[in-house]
Amino acid sequence: MDEELLRGSCPACEVGIGETHADDCDVAECLATGRKRMWCWAQADTAGHDCGQADWTGRWPGHRECREFGWHVQWDREAQTWSRCSSDVPGSGPELTRLYAQARWNADQRQWERRRAVVFIGVLRGGRAAAEELAKVAQRWAVHEGLDVVCEHVGAHAWRSVVADVADGRVELVVVPSVAALGHGRQLFARIAAVRDAGGNVAGPGVVVDEDGRVVEKTLPGEARRIHDGGR
Ligand SMILES: [Zn+2]
Ligand SMILES: [Zn+2]
Repeated sequence: MDEELLRGSCPACEVGIGETHADDCDVAECLATGRKRMWCWAQADTAGHDCGQADWTGRWPGHRECREFGWHVQWDREAQTWSRCSSDVPGSGPELTRLYAQARWNADQRQWERRRAVVFIGVLRGGRAAAEELAKVAQRWAVHEGLDVVCEHVGAHAWRSVVADVADGRVELVVVPSVAALGHGRQLFARIAAVRDAGGNVAGPGVVVDEDGRVVEKTLPGEARRIHDGGR
């Protein structure tokens, strides 16, 4: 991919590269959150943090990451709406709302990063072919959620590797297609606890683990079915 040309001055406040944006600049990003600084300033008490003094780098904040991640949108004339597309489509632009919602701001590096995940299918009911199908469901969900899936483990024997991936910081999310694919009864909660103790969490199209470690099992997206109390 060609290196993008640098723009010599901020399109809003017109300071040059390396110069601090004007206070009222609506292009400047918050160095704490990566979002627009004006967004923070619109919150009561500036959202409780110091937004820092961003300078103009020659690039629109967040655009490089959207291009790298392939998170662009284009205007669909027929449907009269924005639709997602790859970043090499002429006339497309970065989907910043997706960046803010799905990526994570690395304040030290001053850049957005995708959240990394491992796909795990622990229960091989229906055999390996069924497990591979489940893995595909989990992979599709992960792509939709903007996750960077770095590996996939199938089979209960792989569980140790999954927890090790989280403990080593290689991934922060363990993606399972459903509660049933993670485990049964106490094993389910032991596994969720192991991932959370290692600093990660479990998620998937059929699973939501809330802040207290309780599990909400879903049948369809948005349709909650059962709440497991954690068994402890
Ligand atoms: Zn500016
Ligand atoms: Zn801020």
